[in-house]
Amino acid sequence: MADQGPGLAVRLARRPRGVPAMDCFEVVPQPVPELVTGGVVVRNEFFSLDPYMRGRMSDARSYAAPYELGEIMHGDAVGRVVASGDPAIPVGASVVHSDGWRAWSAGPAARYRVVDTAKLSPTAYLGPLGLPGFTAYVGMKHIARVREGDVVFVSAAAGAVGSLAGQVARQLGAGRVVGSAGSAAKVALLTSELGFDAAFNYKDGNLAGQLRAAANGRVDVYFDNVGGEQLEVAIGAMARFGRIALCGMISVYNETVLPPGPANIGMLIGKRLAMRGFLVTDHENLRQEFERAMAGWLADGSVRTAETVVTGVEHAPQAFTDLFTGGNTGKLLVRVEA
Ligand code: NDP
Repeated sequence: MADQGPGLAVRLARRPRGVPAMDCFEVVPQPVPELVTGGVVVRNEFFSLDPYMRGRMSDARSYAAPYELGEIMHGDAVGRVVASGDPAIPVGASVVHSDGWRAWSAGPAARYRVVDTAKLSPTAYLGPLGLPGFTAYVGMKHIARVREGDVVFVSAAAGAVGSLAGQVARQLGAGRVVGSAGSAAKVALLTSELGFDAAFNYKDGNLAGQLRAAANGRVDVYFDNVGGEQLEVAIGAMARFGRIALCGMISVYNETVLPPGPANIGMLIGKRLAMRGFLVTDHENLRQEFERAMAGWLADGSVRTAETVVTGVEHAPQAFTDLFTGGNTGKLLVRVEA
């Protein structure tokens, strides 16, 4: 079978300064790995591209350990077991693991988790039931603590986390859900397919006016994926006792000199705002609760998903850098083979 032969993998060739250039990546052949005793060999089907990987490409101090130079980059992936030395993970099973950016993965069975793809597509485990869904759930339910009737604003709302965050907020009782995104098509998708009540294009200017109009003048919760100007405008629009969940700051991930923070940070005092950063990795104790809730919402159609799929490991570097110019809608994935 064609898909059983050698494949490709992507190594970190050089650390980027600013937006990663293509020569930061090296696409290399990857031979079919050997089965080790008690281990498994997996042919990857899809792997995830995520903004946090930009941090790992640098060696600056951060919460995520840097990729080593010359190392195959890694991240979440889903694939099919083609050889197994562990009866609990039979040949043919779908598994999730963290050997992304490559065609093949092999290692001890404990590094692989079997997932059920009878009712859900394998990509659901990299999207709504994976890191983006878990982040949206933890951020909305346990950090922002969305309550009945809240007006909720989400930035990068047409992205993987953002598109789910808005829908999770709705399930938690939000009264109005507003999103911002970087194109007219994304804005239209948010209100037509993804359950947002209103949305606007942050590239159209007059951010404060657009947010005020979309939110009917009051924001109780801001789920921040981008930082920068949108954070400042959100602080200005927050109602008293509002909550801000700081999930990500993609607007500065490629900056070599960090811009000044929100000029109106002092408003947190008068408005009695709570602003809290979080990392989903600190909340493993919530995983079962999350999986139960999200599986239910997916099954009854109350949460819908969007994906952008790029085919071919060799296209992963360009697709990854496109995350920073809004090239993706929903979860950005690489399909290993056509
Ligand atoms: P997305 O699918 O949202 O992709 C990134 C999107 O960000 C792009 O599509 C683009 O959409 C938008 N964007 C890019 N540059 C800018 C900019 N300068 N200003 C405004 N928007 C921009 O990625 P994810 O859903 O995977 O991640 C979203 C955020 O969540 C990231 O900041 C990420 O780091 C964070 N995150 C945090 C976690 C945590 O534990 N705290 C866990 C996982 C993710 P557009 O066309 O709308 O500009």
